[in-house]
Amino acid sequence: MAETMHCYRHPNRETRVSCATCGRPICTECMRQTYVGIKCPDDAKLPRTAQTGVMKPNQILMSLLAGLGVTLIGIPVVALIFELPFQWLLSIAVGYGAGTLIYRAGGRNGGLLATTISVFATAIPFLVWLAPNALAGAADVFGFVSMVLAVVAASLANRRL
Ligand SMILES: [Zn+2]
Ligand SMILES: [Zn+2]
Repeated sequence: MAETMHCYRHPNRETRVSCATCGRPICTECMRQTYVGIKCPDDAKLPRTAQTGVMKPNQILMSLLAGLGVTLIGIPVVALIFELPFQWLLSIAVGYGAGTLIYRAGGRNGGLLATTISVFATAIPFLVWLAPNALAGAADVFGFVSMVLAVVAASLANRRL
């Protein structure tokens, strides 16, 4: 026997249904059928774009940790890429891989936060190697193109739904 809850908008009405997003109990009158399940009116109102990329706190933490890991591992990886042929292709592959890792760590939600973490985690290892020369006025244009390609690939990896 499931315990009885009361609609958060109508405290005198019993219900066994709760919102798929916030978990608050809702009565039959308040429930809204959405493509991801039954929701309360507040959450059903949000446009679709606001719902993608909504992460739970542990998924945000995992995304940040994955981003940190990618940044640290990325520094020697980028140094290696700069020594190899097909630098641009490798950068795309590595950037996409990094973005995918962060996307998965965040529970496959994608969205703005995962994309932002991916962009920074991918760009920072490149900048570690590129910034000193750039600041000295001898920017490695090929290196910067690699960085842009890797960053674009990383953010694209987070666009899948
Ligand atoms: Zn709700
Ligand atoms: Zn209600």
